[in-house]
Amino acid sequence: MRTPIVAGNWKMNLAVDEAVSLARGIAEGAPENGVKLIVSPVSVHLSAVSEALAASPVLLGAQNMHWATSGAYTGEVAGPMLRELAVRYVILGHSERRQHFGESDEGVNRKVHSALAQDFHPIICLGETLDEREAGNTETKVECQLRAAMSGLSAEQAQQTIVAYEPIWAIGTGKTASPQQAQEVHAFLRDVLRDRFDDNTANEIPILYGGSVKPRNFDALIAQKDIDGGLVGGASLKAESFLELARIGRSA
Ligand code: PEP
Repeated sequence: MRTPIVAGNWKMNLAVDEAVSLARGIAEGAPENGVKLIVSPVSVHLSAVSEALAASPVLLGAQNMHWATSGAYTGEVAGPMLRELAVRYVILGHSERRQHFGESDEGVNRKVHSALAQDFHPIICLGETLDEREAGNTETKVECQLRAAMSGLSAEQAQQTIVAYEPIWAIGTGKTASPQQAQEVHAFLRDVLRDRFDDNTANEIPILYGGSVKPRNFDALIAQKDIDGGLVGGASLKAESFLELARIGRSA
């Protein structure tokens, strides 16, 4: 059985005091129901949020990480810096990074290797645009992204990763994939993992859904066989809605 996960991506939002109070609110209200909770603030707030989460079961994620462990990469953040702040998860290949910062499949793969070598759990994001979906190319796109991100990984390494299926047309738009649409892609991704690795690995890797997840639509999504949780943007910015997702995560 895969542990349900609710992971918040706070993106480039909140002032530091707001981030700390959100983290405290989540830590205080976190249900003890076996759902793994992860929050990912902007990198300059990681230190303060890490302190706010100390001694709580809520885990810390970063929104990005460079593949090099140090060096002349102005503006970037390296794994060892994240480790010092108790970061355990790194979101890699988010569509906003691919779209606005030119992240390639190859670059995502380099980051995945580096993250695993430093004992992080990469949350590998992938998903199709509306045009790709309408042209019937959803499976081709997500398979290509998944295989590229996992290129060169052993099954053991792959088992340390989390995959997040995030249809780009559903991110921040209020449009959600229907539970059936999402389940179809999740089942397909699991088949690709089975083909690329083995049955056990395919069954171990959590596949999260992301794209306008809200308390009102999450129960039907998480009830699907291959949907193991959510990667959540907007609804992770309020303790109340994030905690509601955490509660729903278990009852499904
Ligand atoms: C995301 O940032 O990964 C995301 C899915 O955002 P939202 O929930 O706001 O659509």
